[in-house]
Amino acid sequence: MLEPRVAVQSLPEYQSPLGSRRGALLDMNECAQGCSPRVVARLRSLTVEDLCRYPDRLPLEKRIAGSLNLAAEQVMLTNGADEALHLLCEAYLEAGDAMVVPVPTFSMFEIYARQTGANVVPVLPCEQFEIPVQGLLRASEETRRCKPIAIASPNNPTGAVLRRADLVQILEAAPNAAVLLDEAYCEFYGRTEIDLLSRFPNLFVARTFSKAYGLAGLRAGMLAGAAQQMGALRRLSSPFNLNAAALACVEEALDDREHLNTTVSQVRALRARLAQGLQALGFEVFPSEANFLYVRMGAPATRIVAELANRQIFIRDRGSDPGGAGCVRITVGTAREVDALLAALQAICAQRPVGGAA
Ligand code: PMP
Repeated sequence: MLEPRVAVQSLPEYQSPLGSRRGALLDMNECAQGCSPRVVARLRSLTVEDLCRYPDRLPLEKRIAGSLNLAAEQVMLTNGADEALHLLCEAYLEAGDAMVVPVPTFSMFEIYARQTGANVVPVLPCEQFEIPVQGLLRASEETRRCKPIAIASPNNPTGAVLRRADLVQILEAAPNAAVLLDEAYCEFYGRTEIDLLSRFPNLFVARTFSKAYGLAGLRAGMLAGAAQQMGALRRLSSPFNLNAAALACVEEALDDREHLNTTVSQVRALRARLAQGLQALGFEVFPSEANFLYVRMGAPATRIVAELANRQIFIRDRGSDPGGAGCVRITVGTAREVDALLAALQAICAQRPVGGAA
């Protein structure tokens, strides 16, 4: 019988809540504020000529590299940050290797690592879901065949960040490991560690246009690293991984700084409002620098998620996360969505008190 590779047979599937859901979609960390109107205009202006030619990502890579003080060879545009993670695993993992990953985190790290026949060494979080720096250092030492270390900062689903000094410590302790810093949500944090690329040839930084730029549907991201390493990654990627529409739209999105700044300040203000509202209802909210909150609702969490879904408000049950019993993840939506969510939660809590919520 025809069978896929052994590593593929046992792969977990990415659990996506997509489907026929309609309403307040606060379960995918998308950007409810949407993209710049200039992007939509650019999309509408695409010509037959734009579409009948193969897309050239190089000019945009040069431009982005220039704006980040990097050489053009250091930046590769990818089909979402997803592809960046995928290529990194393909390039640096052999079957039987191990990739060190602080958990809970973005599930694609594990899926892409396991596709190669490698394993993941999960490192459990600290008490308030801070990134476990000491645990990461220990795991890197203990794992005989440790190769990559993959850390999202701000982390999904917790919103926790890795401090620069801690990242430097990890980079110095594991000079032969590819260290991936996934900065998918860095615009909301307002910080990046990408300049460390000039000091550390083992550092890779992934970014996306799906979050603060509001372009999840277009599939555009990037990976930056040492020029020498990026050559290998370029060989692995499809030469036409970004389509012409995505390239044009990303260019336009980068030109509209004002829209990006407005989105970020709106999200930060709404995140504070949402956190306050949730705390007032007795829920524990963990510090987040991203466009979502990780919240402990306790034993009734799953019931609350279901009751919200009945009211067309969708949040993500994260109760099966390591250390995340009773936890949910809530994307910061529009002002109206935040208010609707808080009102619905108030009604649900009033109906049946959420014992042990705090
Ligand atoms: N990294 C992290 C930490 C994410 O949360 C996500 C998306 N949820 C991605 C990468 C993938 O982003 P993209 O849409 O660019 O593939």
